[in-house]
Amino acid sequence: MSEIKLHDKVFEPYITKERIQASIEALAQKITEDYKDKKPLFIVVLNGAFMFASDLLKVLKFDLEVCFIKVSSYHGTRSTGEVTEIIGLSKNIENRPIIIVEDIIDTGNTIETLVNTLKPKAPSSIKIASMLLKPEAYKKDITIDYAALEIENKFVVGYGLDYDELGRNINALYKLKA
Ligand code: 5GP
Ligand code: MG
Repeated sequence: MSEIKLHDKVFEPYITKERIQASIEALAQKITEDYKDKKPLFIVVLNGAFMFASDLLKVLKFDLEVCFIKVSSYHGTRSTGEVTEIIGLSKNIENRPIIIVEDIIDTGNTIETLVNTLKPKAPSSIKIASMLLKPEAYKKDITIDYAALEIENKFVVGYGLDYDELGRNINALYKLKA
């Protein structure tokens, strides 16, 4: 793996696809133990989580449902802390166990808003599955139940994550070069 350039910035190799895959498979085992008889609804947060969700859901071998939503909260390489809106939740989630599927938990603003928006719709439970978690940046009390990988407080791209819309298709994780 070598450096890549997206727009004006250079990114260096960070986490290989093999390590990502292995961590997703380990996570899938935990989720299977907890949910195999519960028919959960996975709510995938687009765009960033599409690649993680695809890999995760393919290795889950029990009955489940999937739907996709969108939120918008991020511009460039710094979190703005603003969460605008949630689009596309067409399913009735009342009395259902739901698992929110995220690409990355940074400050936690987005996930907190999402959980607070979903709670009044009375699901039987809400858990969070994120490909990445930045423990140093995370400032909220909500438990991140399932994180495939914990990473440093660096800006990363690849595996669904973008830098101004580029880099989502890259099959590994790269971090911003200092
Ligand atoms: P939070 O609200 O937790 O601060 O940030 C959540 C959102 O910010 C993520 O869903 C993601 O869209 C974006 N984000 C946070 N950290 C990164 C990062 O390192 N790289 C990229 N590409 N996006 C990030
Ligand atoms: Mg996101």
